[in-house]
Amino acid sequence: MDYIDPHIHMVSRITDDYETLARMGCVAMSEPAFWAGYDRGTVHGFRDYFRHLTEIEPKRAARYGIQHYTWLCINAKEAENVALSRDVIAMIPEFLDRPNVLGIGEIGLNKNTKNECIVFQEHVDLAMRFDQQILIHTPHLEDKYQGTRMILDMLTSDARVNPSRVLVDHVEEHTVRHVLDEGFWAGMTLYPVTKCTPARAADIIEMYGPERLMVNSAGDWGPSKPTAVPDFIFEMRRRGHSEGLIRRVVYENPLTFFGQSKNFQFTPREDTVVSVG
Ligand SMILES: [Zn+2]
Repeated sequence: MDYIDPHIHMVSRITDDYETLARMGCVAMSEPAFWAGYDRGTVHGFRDYFRHLTEIEPKRAARYGIQHYTWLCINAKEAENVALSRDVIAMIPEFLDRPNVLGIGEIGLNKNTKNECIVFQEHVDLAMRFDQQILIHTPHLEDKYQGTRMILDMLTSDARVNPSRVLVDHVEEHTVRHVLDEGFWAGMTLYPVTKCTPARAADIIEMYGPERLMVNSAGDWGPSKPTAVPDFIFEMRRRGHSEGLIRRVVYENPLTFFGQSKNFQFTPREDTVVSVG
């Protein structure tokens, strides 16, 4: 089955991963900007990273027939340096017209601090001024519930934000309902140990249905599995779910969400043409 991985960090994966993903049916992916494993020192480091995301990865992906898209921001872990964050936010518009840029992300909270909130809101303002979609990282387990609540409150208090153009990622059983109830899209991250497993994601689909829900691998340089979306497909089949339902979650929903960006120019394979929207 053709599928789209809406959240994966290919800068930290090897080329063999592209080949494996292509063989398993991955036809497109989106890569949010994230933390490098260390705090970058200057705005120039981010400019080079954004060049990597907009010039190098699309070419690596294209060699395997995969369409690569990206999102730009400074990560919440680096938001304590508000001055540097502001320099990065001011520089991002240089890249917004590049053909694979879908919006601003993954912005969010990490430890739910005041500075993280300031930098989050300035990113949202940037997205609104440039008519961009937003991809959001919610904190890790111990801070997730409160952080998700804070993020949703900040978004809903800005009247310019259209929830149908925002994807809130890393939802789990205790946060998914809040995200969906307020009209946002929700992403479930399939990790081997933390976040959601494929089985828990299948449970959540069974409870909430497929509307505005997606799954992703969030594959990066930590313990993660780039082929986690196919694992979810197998789990759904094992439970007897229809191909149509599975396809809605792993293919049609990402197409509908990404299709709201003027830069998303997806060409489906001939045998998989579907009408979206
Ligand atoms: Zn990520």
